[in-house]
Amino acid sequence: MNADEIRKSLHEVLDRIPQHVRLVAVSKYHPANDIMAAYEEGQRIFGESHEQELSRKVAELPDDIEWHFIGHLQTNKVKLIAPYISMIESVDSMKLLREINKYAAKYNRVIRVLLELHVAQEETKYGFSPEDCRALLRDGEWKTLKNISICGLMAMATYTSDESLIAREFGVADALFDEIKGSHFKDDDNFRIKSWGMSHDYLIAIGHGSNMVRVGTRIFGERQY
Ligand SMILES: *Cc1c(COP(=O)(O)O)cnc(C)c1O
Repeated sequence: MNADEIRKSLHEVLDRIPQHVRLVAVSKYHPANDIMAAYEEGQRIFGESHEQELSRKVAELPDDIEWHFIGHLQTNKVKLIAPYISMIESVDSMKLLREINKYAAKYNRVIRVLLELHVAQEETKYGFSPEDCRALLRDGEWKTLKNISICGLMAMATYTSDESLIAREFGVADALFDEIKGSHFKDDDNFRIKSWGMSHDYLIAIGHGSNMVRVGTRIFGERQY
C-alpha cells in the first residue's frame, strides 16, 4: 500500500476502536517508510517480531516510537533489544523472564512484559496454558525479579472464520485475566493490559475485554516477505 492508503486504513482502524483500547501497529516486514506514514498521523506504538529487523528500524526511525516485541523471543536475543524495547508481549517461559530481568538490570531499567497465553487450538502457537500460567505466578519467583513489570496478558485466537470459537478463546483469556488480577495483582495498577485481537478478529477481541489490539495487515497491507 502507498502512504495515502496506509494513512486511510490507520484511521479506519482507529475509528472502530473505543478510546480505552490502545493500537499496536504491527509493522513487521514493512519498510521504514510505511511506519513513517503511520507515525506522521500520530501513531506511536509499533509491533515487531524479529530482532534484526527491529534493531535496523530502531536506528532509522524517531526516538519517541514505543516498540513492542510480539514474536517468539529467543533468550540469546534479549540482550540486543533490552536497551530500548518498550514492552515484550510474548513472554512464554520463566527462563525468558529471568533473562529479560537480567538485561533490564544491566541497562538500569524496568522492562514491561506481558505473559503470552496459549488459548488457540493450533499446536504451533507459543504461550503458557492457563494452568502453567497459574503455576508460574503461584511459584512466586517472579516477585524477586525487580527489573521486570508484568503488565498483563497477551493471547492469540485460532486462525479461523469460526467467530464463536474465536470469541470463546478470547473469553478464556479474559476470565483468566480477572482471576489472576484478583489472586496476584489486586494492588498493582500496572497489571491492566489485555492484548488480544489482530486484523481479522480485533473487534471480537474488544468485545471480550481486549484493551490492546495488534493490527498489521489491515493497516499496512499484505506483508512483503
Ligand atoms: C503478525 C502478528 C500480528 C498482526 O497480524 P495481522 O493479521 O497482520 O494483523 C499480531 N500479533 C502477533 C503476535 C503477530 O505475530
